Amino acid sequence: MTRAYNFSAGPAALPEVVLRQAQEEMLDWHGAGASIVEMSHRGPEFMAVAAAAEADLRQLLSVPDDYAVLFLPGGATTQQALIPMNFASPGQRADYVLTGHWGKTAVKQASPYVSAHIAASSEANAFRDIPARADWQLSPDAAYVHITANETIHGVEFRDIPDTGDVPLVADFSSSIASEPLDISRFGVIYAGAQKNLGPVGIAVVIIRRDLLERTGQPRADIFTYASHAARDSMLNTPPTWNWYLAGLVFKWMLAEGGVVEFARRNAAKAALVYSAIDASGGFYRNEVAVSARSRMNIPFFLPSTDLDARFVADAKAAGLLALKGHKAVGGIRASLYNAIPVAGAEALVAFMADFQQRHG
Ligand SMILES: *Cc1c(COP(=O)(O)O)cnc(C)c1O
Repeated sequence: MTRAYNFSAGPAALPEVVLRQAQEEMLDWHGAGASIVEMSHRGPEFMAVAAAAEADLRQLLSVPDDYAVLFLPGGATTQQALIPMNFASPGQRADYVLTGHWGKTAVKQASPYVSAHIAASSEANAFRDIPARADWQLSPDAAYVHITANETIHGVEFRDIPDTGDVPLVADFSSSIASEPLDISRFGVIYAGAQKNLGPVGIAVVIIRRDLLERTGQPRADIFTYASHAARDSMLNTPPTWNWYLAGLVFKWMLAEGGVVEFARRNAAKAALVYSAIDASGGFYRNEVAVSARSRMNIPFFLPSTDLDARFVADAKAAGLLALKGHKAVGGIRASLYNAIPVAGAEALVAFMADFQQRHG
């Protein structure tokens, strides 16, 4: 069996050692005589797995003590609806900064609950840049300011944390969490679906400054209440135990590899390799994002024609480089370079790009 390099945007590649460990432990978890997915979430075995995952994630991300860490089903999109329900009064304004597709879905999910105000948007520029902070039209009485730290489809990433004063900054980190060191104290809420950089789809991580849990928010069921999940250690109902366990294995792997400092180094190296290959191609490969806003995690690029785009994707697949087709909203090619993609994966992609250009350029 040979495993290909998988550049999927999500669900995305997982470290092979983690998959092997999960495989080994699948039938009989640590001599318990049953799989971890077959055991009660309230039993000592799974409780230990859950607690270790939280402790490891706190260590990995240097989460301050005054922040709750939740593991919830429903992915990132669900959080985009829960955030206004929990943190904004009915009809209150919340500011959204749009830098791509996922900022727009956040507004769509929030709109039934808040007056979602677009404080800044780069849509007129086809989401190829990040609007300058000085041009944002923020509201002093907003419940929060929402940004998408890394736009997975458009390949646009904030490289600085914007200052929003006393209004809490809420950030969708689905596709860049744990990719480099981050000062969490600058944020009110950070959320991420796990299937890009943290583990399998089916679970989301939500990191919330605890004082925000005291906000009244909107009328809603207890199951939609972050404070209730926090009070019950994310076990208000049966949690997605398998996903939580597998994410926990990924956290341990990241810590063993050297943590976010090491992943920042690798991610910068991988992105530099691919952007350099694009920029040195004499226009054969084209990335249209402003250089200062280029994502380290998701790199969209185009060939001279859509026929060549399709040929590139097919030939790459035959060469063991998977899932390079761009999202339909943007087209072209997209290479996702999450933590589980080694530098050798980016090197293989760049070598393939040079060879493809030689044959078709
Ligand atoms: C993938 C993604 C989402 C959607 O995540 P789901 O888990 O499918 O709800 C939201 N935001 C960003 C930035 C993403 O990359």
